[in-house]
Amino acid sequence: MIFELRQVTALDVAGAELLARLFADIEARGTPIALVGVAEPHVAQLVAADPSGRVAARIAATEIDVLRLLNPGRVTRPIERLIAGVRRFQQSAGRRRLLVERLAKAQDPHTLFVSCADSRVVPTLLTSTDPGELLQVRNLGNIVPPSGGAAMPAEGAAVEYALTRLHITEIVVCGHSGCGAMTALLARDPAVGMPSVAEWLRPAAALLARLPDDATPGDAAMANVVLQLEHLRTYPIVRERLVAGQLRLHGWYYDIGAGALSAWDDVAEQFVPLVSPIRSSASAHRC
Ligand SMILES: [Zn+2]
Repeated sequence: MIFELRQVTALDVAGAELLARLFADIEARGTPIALVGVAEPHVAQLVAADPSGRVAARIAATEIDVLRLLNPGRVTRPIERLIAGVRRFQQSAGRRRLLVERLAKAQDPHTLFVSCADSRVVPTLLTSTDPGELLQVRNLGNIVPPSGGAAMPAEGAAVEYALTRLHITEIVVCGHSGCGAMTALLARDPAVGMPSVAEWLRPAAALLARLPDDATPGDAAMANVVLQLEHLRTYPIVRERLVAGQLRLHGWYYDIGAGALSAWDDVAEQFVPLVSPIRSSASAHRC
């Protein structure tokens, strides 16, 4: 049984104890449970309400956690996890009816979002955007090869299509912390056994000349974002739209651990916070 707690905005001690007892009763009858969408302060309250730790162990952070909790002792194959996700997606289709009807007719994205293929970087999650808003290009190292280069034209094709056929007015290039591509680049990893990777990362090799010897992967990821913005400007259609004031380029950096995004400031020549830091939900709750 799945308990969806995303809509719970307040929980007092009595409520937490009541929920803890309810969960224990259900499990005592042999029904495994998973708690999803539990806000951080509520986690602490539920844990405090059940010192045995049983409730805490039922809190799921991911869909894989949900499957593990509902099927204890059974290994879930990746394809089963995907199919379970499809089932959840279809079960929630009713909530998206209006959006689906609109999307079925056409797409009208406003932004081309270039990001790394890294599984932790999810553009729609980072920007709270809905289907139909972002045209996405994802690859190792969020690279856009320069126009006319020998590299495969997939990224250039997306840029040209975005600006010629769609109403794209913004292009975001988003790098991130802990990027494997940047780590490999800094280490001058020859990518043995991965000739396509070696070829793919070649346009980013110019970065090495811009970085100090003690540069971190984070430094490289930020410098890489700036380099890819330069690559974007080599496309005639990009230059044309920039001159006409119909396009803006943005360089972002996502710090995964901090959950924070910063943006390249052309004038200050550094990355600055994209939005003001917010208080944690726990401290906001107390006020
Ligand atoms: Zn990456």
